Amino acid sequence: MTSNWYCLDCETGIDPREVGRHANAGHHIRGMLVPTASRPTELRRRSDRETAIRPVHGPGD
Ligand SMILES: [Zn+2]
Repeated sequence: MTSNWYCLDCETGIDPREVGRHANAGHHIRGMLVPTASRPTELRRRSDRETAIRPVHGPGD
């Protein structure tokens, strides 16, 4: 779970650790919770050796 915070006064995304600092300054904070679990994870990597490399024939072949 990742939290994205946006300061409406600074008009920029801020780090979660910076939220308190902006809030103390009277800034308006907008927080968005982004569930990372919904992201498709493609960590599996195919072995390049499994890919057969076909010889390329020239036009005059
Ligand atoms: Zn701010």
